Amino acid sequence: MVPLVAATGGYLLLPSGPVRDAAFALIGLACVVTAFVGLHLHAPRRQAGWFLVISGFLGWVVGDALFSLQTAWGVTAYPAPADAVYLVAYLLMAAGLVVMVRRRAGNGDLAAVLDATIVATGAAVVAGVFVLAPVASDSSLSALGKLTSAFYPAADILLLAILVRFWATPSARTTSFRLLVCAFGFIFAGDAYYTTTTIMTGGVESQLANDFVWFAGYILIAGATWDRSVHDLAEPAPGLEDVSDPTKRLLLLTGGLLLPPVTLLGDGLDGEVSQWPIVLIGSVLLSLLVLMRMAGLLTVVRAQAVQLAGLARSDALTGVPNRRSWDHELSRACRTAEDQGTPLTLALLDLDHFKTYNDIHGHPAGDLLLKEATAGWVQHLSGAEVLARVGGEEFAVLLPDHDAESARARVLELLASTPRGQTFSAGVATWQPGTEPAVAVAAADRALYDAKRSGRNRICLAPFVPSGTVLQQPRIALQPMVDLATGEPVAVEALSRFREQRPVEVFEQARTLGRLSELEAAAITAARAVARPGLLLSVNVDIASLPSPRIRESLSGDLTGMVLEVTEHTHTPVDPEALGDVQAALRDYRERGALIAVDDWGTGYSDMDRLELLQPEIVKIDMSIVHDLDSARHQALVGSVLAWANRRHARVCAEGVETEAQLERLRRLGVHLGQGFHLGHPALAEDLGPGTTSSVVARDGSESETIPR
Ligand code: GH3
Ligand code: MG
Ligand code: MG
Repeated sequence: MVPLVAATGGYLLLPSGPVRDAAFALIGLACVVTAFVGLHLHAPRRQAGWFLVISGFLGWVVGDALFSLQTAWGVTAYPAPADAVYLVAYLLMAAGLVVMVRRRAGNGDLAAVLDATIVATGAAVVAGVFVLAPVASDSSLSALGKLTSAFYPAADILLLAILVRFWATPSARTTSFRLLVCAFGFIFAGDAYYTTTTIMTGGVESQLANDFVWFAGYILIAGATWDRSVHDLAEPAPGLEDVSDPTKRLLLLTGGLLLPPVTLLGDGLDGEVSQWPIVLIGSVLLSLLVLMRMAGLLTVVRAQAVQLAGLARSDALTGVPNRRSWDHELSRACRTAEDQGTPLTLALLDLDHFKTYNDIHGHPAGDLLLKEATAGWVQHLSGAEVLARVGGEEFAVLLPDHDAESARARVLELLASTPRGQTFSAGVATWQPGTEPAVAVAAADRALYDAKRSGRNRICLAPFVPSGTVLQQPRIALQPMVDLATGEPVAVEALSRFREQRPVEVFEQARTLGRLSELEAAAITAARAVARPGLLLSVNVDIASLPSPRIRESLSGDLTGMVLEVTEHTHTPVDPEALGDVQAALRDYRERGALIAVDDWGTGYSDMDRLELLQPEIVKIDMSIVHDLDSARHQALVGSVLAWANRRHARVCAEGVETEAQLERLRRLGVHLGQGFHLGHPALAEDLGPGTTSSVVARDGSESETIPR
């Protein structure tokens, strides 16, 4: 490459005339030879495009030489042999570029084709006004001469179009690619400069500066074959998305679009616009092309919007609706069921021991199972039924027009069709008109938990609560909580009692109706009315109810002497968003004097977490533990909770103390407080005498037999 540049420098010193013309031809030839050698050395797999381009290049150089000879010999005929050679050269060049573009991009890139056409049309307007129109009206030219003169700008514009197409198609921007594009840039500039000077001066002698521009193009073509990336240039560039910055492309298009008005300006500079029809036709064509380009873009935008909306609604792994779209479908189905008065049942499915499956077979196999299972289930569903993936291995099924029993049958079909022997547990709940959809989901979730707890691979139905069920008013029974060291009662727990149903049933119904906090608040209000002087009053509240307005209302004012026993009836942890509210409520109750107790401790998965979260003053050990203190696991649990409580200066209370032996054992272990039949039965507050300490201590059992526990 260096000798070529040096030779070009030497060219400067030569006087105008045959010697310089010969040098021009020789330097051109040297560039062609260099290009062929480069191509031969790197031997790209697909040479056809390159071969054609360099052959066209050779044609140019031969044309240059012939042209010089014609000038030397005084040939005045037009067209002359050199013109024929140039014609062939341009065609070869164009064919070579087309082959390369096709290799790289296939035929499909309509946007690039349109962009190329827009730039070419703009250039054609310039050529039409300043070259073609004058040529057409030049009476000194023969018809063939006119055609020949028209050919040069037309060929340049064709090459320009192919080149823009080449450049605009998403592809690897390699050195070889850049050199080739620059080379053509110089050659166009050279041609345009030459055309302008010949029109303006009337002579055909090329200027020194012009020769340099061409040489630059020639050297760059040669250079393009010497870079290693020559291999990739004519190779397909698949999968290259056009994510490049569109600024350059927009600038190029702006250039193309501005050419007609600029041409009009140039045409009118002499005070007379003579070629306006060309500008007009060009402008109309450009407008149509831009419209086509916009139509293409709008189609793409719409397709992408549809695709994005689909992605946002469906789960990436299984393709079924995701949680977001489940929420949407559920509220819609509730509205439809309400309007049409039809039943609506939903089921929550959770794969059994799926963590173990992953551990044994690997995560990818787990993914595959999720995919296969969903595909299988979907086949069992009909039109309005929706299967959604609402968690890692949790799914939800919406079953319109099904009551709980027929829904169970449906879910059983799904269970049977689950591949690879995998099972799931499911909870089924029927939505009640007039309730929030979330109430049915929570009911199904509790039923699912029951299914898991009772052995998995089964379907549990949420208890059915007829809509319009009236919540009963709780009556309050009080049961003492005794200091095991002194035997003295320190507190009473307020327990709700109902005339006809067991408390658990009524609370479960209230929960199913989404009215749990309402019932709890009623119980707290009733309990506060029967508080015993000198004793702490302990009331029960679900962790999720703590921040609810009704509970806040029932816990108004000074809370000194009250204990809030926080229960947790769902296995799903309080979601992080609600957690802040729970903690704020707890802070508020504590500041007003309440103590916090953790209820039913030792039965859940996350008992230690609960302690850390609530930081209770009292921990109540579940009676299932107290009843079997021989179990090593239970002993460990009691040991750990005592250790925790002693560190935090909290007290531990054993529930369900029924025998002296249990009492003795708990005392020896260091448990602080106890509650249970052995220490005092619950007694209805209305049956107790005026509030004295001793009146709640009823070791012999004073609760009426007719009140179910
Ligand atoms: P259980 O019967 O109590 O539901 O037991 P389990 O192991 O299914 O439940 P757990 O909640 O302990 O674990 C759920 C596991 O599901 C954890 C995780 O390994 C697996 N899992 C969740 N999402 C994906 C997923 O997208 N791909 C795979 N392969 N596994 C997942
Ligand atoms: Mg599971
Ligand atoms: Mg309790």
